[in-house]
Amino acid sequence: MTDCERISDSLIDYINRRLTQEQNGEIVSHLAVCHSCRKEAADLIRFKKLEQERMADVPQEIVDTAFLRIPKDDKFLDDIIDFRPYHVVFNLIRYSLTAVNQTIQLAQQAI
Ligand SMILES: [Zn+2]
Repeated sequence: MTDCERISDSLIDYINRRLTQEQNGEIVSHLAVCHSCRKEAADLIRFKKLEQERMADVPQEIVDTAFLRIPKDDKFLDDIIDFRPYHVVFNLIRYSLTAVNQTIQLAQQAI
């Protein structure tokens, strides 16, 4: 594993301040000399800020419960497929965005 790979694995924890002082020092020293890891860190920070801004407007109660309302069977997808053609595209987009949203939520819980 190269230095960059090791640093990359720790960047999320670094940004969320979950590292020891010694680990922080190691990351800072590497970022000082490595442009690509610096860019990766900047992208992660930007993404985290965007997500925080996006979620700031949504009451926590809704964030917590919204995904409990997602149908657990495939009926929703069947409904979409049986729907009139010009609605299918929009509903498919909505369906896939739901999955994206769910992924983002899981990622946030993991961060
Ligand atoms: Zn690097």
